[in-house]
Amino acid sequence: MICSLCQERAIVSQRYLGRHLCQDHFIQDFEGRMVQTIVVNRMIEKGERIAVAVSGGKDSTALLFALSRVLAEKEVEMVALTVDEGIAGYRDDTIVAAKRIARQMGVEQVIISFQEEYGWSLDEMVVGAEVAPCTYCGVFRKNALNCAAKSLGVTKLATGHNQDDEAQSVMMNYLKGDMERLMRFRPRREQPGLIPRIKPLRDIPEKEIALYAMVNGIYFESRECPYARLSLRADVRDMMNRMESLFPGTRQKTLQGFERIEELCRGDWAQMELAECRECGEPCVGKRCKACELLGRLRPNLPDQIGA
Ligand code: SF4
Ligand SMILES: [Zn+2]
Ligand SMILES: [Zn+2]
Repeated sequence: MICSLCQERAIVSQRYLGRHLCQDHFIQDFEGRMVQTIVVNRMIEKGERIAVAVSGGKDSTALLFALSRVLAEKEVEMVALTVDEGIAGYRDDTIVAAKRIARQMGVEQVIISFQEEYGWSLDEMVVGAEVAPCTYCGVFRKNALNCAAKSLGVTKLATGHNQDDEAQSVMMNYLKGDMERLMRFRPRREQPGLIPRIKPLRDIPEKEIALYAMVNGIYFESRECPYARLSLRADVRDMMNRMESLFPGTRQKTLQGFERIEELCRGDWAQMELAECRECGEPCVGKRCKACELLGRLRPNLPDQIGA
């Protein structure tokens, strides 16, 4: 297989674009597409201080690496922000990888943990819980990242979400019929107390991110989170992977379809104003944020369960 742009051997076949690329053209294309996403969506401006959420998995590792490269000459400051949820046999390894990539790129790193922030690790929170582990994990991670980002004085929070994640999230909202959430998926304006989130890799498929990490020698093979299989996302991911292999471009078209719907619904689904949580002051939809609500449910029964 020969590169569509030169005579070198191709290392990747981008079926959804109908072309093959050699290593050099792949790296160039990868970073170029990320920059295009940043520029078109005005994600990062000169003089900003950005927190990059780095878990140590391949997506966030590749994000920190690629951002460090393309922003090297720009006046943009970066800090790596790592959350230790407390998932035995999984998170410890990725935190080692997160420390390694931050050191390699010369980026300051701050590590926060569920244990320190909320008093319990995720493993402790989910003992006997009725709510799925990923719900606890997602809610508290979002809360912890926003609080830490504010205390670090950053202007944006960059996450390693890829095209697969984005298409899965859209599909999950379709399946749940959750239009409100779907319309909040890509907020159009800033909300007080909420550090704007950016996803520079959102147009790049997960497989290409793994390949980018490999060819740059930063790939780290991590185990799957032990809770991953308990989520709706796992089923949606399997379904979308199957569709993508049968009909290349499915993910891209799912996202394009969502963008079209979002455009058409704009007037009817005006972005709602967020209030301050009456307990912790974080922005939320009702009177109490999701993190405080979940903590409230945990408090009465958790200590006994942990001690058991
Ligand atoms: S799979 Fe679920 S529990 Fe595991 S890290 Fe992801 S969100 Fe958290
Ligand atoms: Zn080439
Ligand atoms: Zn709260």
